[in-house]
Order: sequence, then structure tokens, then C-alpha cells
Amino acid sequence: MNNNLKLSNRLLTAASFLPNGAYFADIGSDHAYLPCYVCLSDPTAKAIAGEINEGPFDSAKATIRTYNLNEQVDVRLGDGLEVLQQEEVSQIIIAGMGGSLIKTILEKGKSKLSRVERIIAQPNVDARNVRRWFYENDYILTHEAILDENDHIYEVLVADKVSDSNPYSKEFMEKELLFGPLLLRNKSAVFKEKWTLEHQKLTKVIAQMRNASTPDSSRIKLFEREIAWMEEVLKDEKQSPK
Ligand code: SAM
Repeated sequence: MNNNLKLSNRLLTAASFLPNGAYFADIGSDHAYLPCYVCLSDPTAKAIAGEINEGPFDSAKATIRTYNLNEQVDVRLGDGLEVLQQEEVSQIIIAGMGGSLIKTILEKGKSKLSRVERIIAQPNVDARNVRRWFYENDYILTHEAILDENDHIYEVLVADKVSDSNPYSKEFMEKELLFGPLLLRNKSAVFKEKWTLEHQKLTKVIAQMRNASTPDSSRIKLFEREIAWMEEVLKDEKQSPK
């Protein structure tokens, strides 16, 4: 893709998982940079930019006017997938929000997914929530990417309605939901950096929880299990995820 609208690497990575000739919705589109970029690069693509807030909705309209993309990009004001008609789009992108908000948007909008072949999610935190939603709703996780931009680490998850693959193992499912089964297969430097930082954060959280007047021992146990997984994953770099 090449045009004069510059996208962050985070959004470029998300956009790279769209097929040519995509008909997609970008939910929580803010300035509509992503749909405009894709449609400038691919004249056969069409997009709906969904926004819940008036300010970003107006910014999205302005970007579309600037790039003269009214024929290709439609901006709609509304909550999540409610801006879509039934069976309208084939792909959905939801980027730059927390994993639990992405999960809520997908859950509330389930009835709009009947024709959606691919969902691309870029949760800023709690990617596990999104992976679990995909798994429980028969979207198969087919690609994962992790990247570092402006001192933030981002994950991009791609799930398809139809795929022969199953990225999870029965035995290690919970661990794979946390780290990402595909990211675990190739522990990149960014992946290791992310989990080193998460290990530090969680260690502090556990110490604070232990000092509470009534420590929540079952929650502490859960977090300790995650700490042990992080140590395993960071240690046995050359071995399989198990
Ligand atoms: N997707 C862009 C990106 O990744 O750079 C914008 C991310 S911005 C942090 C999140 C945007 O999602 C905001 O513009 C916000 O108004 C919008 N948003 C939040 N909840 C939403 C919802 N339920 N439905 C549609 N848009 C939503």
C-alpha cells in the first residue's frame, strides 16, 4: 500500500490483514485514517467508519472529504456494530481500545456477524479477552502480530470464520490465551520485552495484594500461576510453548 496518508505501524499492521477488494467496517474509527488509507491504496475496497462520539465522527467526515473518498468510505455515528446493516460487511477492524471493550462490542453486535469472514482486533490491553471471545464464538485465530511503536507494545489478532487450523492445545489453552498461541511459537524480541514488563508489573501487584488487610488468596494464586508461566516462557526460549 502506498499513498500520501501516513498510518502508524500499528494501524498499518492491522490493515495489512485485509484482502484486496475488502468491504469492511472500522469500528471506533476516530479520524477514519485507516479506512481512508486502505481505500486510497485499493480503489476496489469499500469501508464503513463507525464512531460513537460526535467529535471523532466529525474528524472522520473531514478526513473523508479531504481525500475525496465519499464514494468508498461511509461514516456512521453509533455504538459498535449497530451502525451496520445485516450481512453488510465481510471484515471488521476494531483497533486502539481495551480488550474488554472490543469483546463487548463483538458480543453486543453478534447478530451483525453472519457474513463477517474476518475480524481484525488490536487491543491495547487484555488481548486474552478477545482471544477467548473468538474461541467461544467460532472465530479461529489465524494470525497474530506484535510490534513496538512509540514506547508501546501492541498486539494485532486476526480471526477467521473459516479455517482448518486450531491454534490451541487442550492442555495449555489458558496459557495460550494469555500469551497468544501463535506469538508463543515465535517468541520475538518484542514479545519477550512485553512479558518481561508484565512480569514486573504483576510481581508488584501480588506484593501489594499480600499486604492487604484481608488478602484475596484465590486471586493471588491465579496471579502466581501467571507469574510462573511468564518465567517459563521467558526462560525456555528455544523450546515449544508447553
Ligand atoms: N481505531 C483508531 C485507532 O486505533 O487509532 C481510534 C482509537 S481511539 C483510542 C478509540 C475510538 O473508539 C474513539 O474515537 C472512541 O470514540 C471510539 N469508540 C469507543 N467505544 C466505541 C463504541 N462502542 N462504538 C464505536 N466507537 C467507539
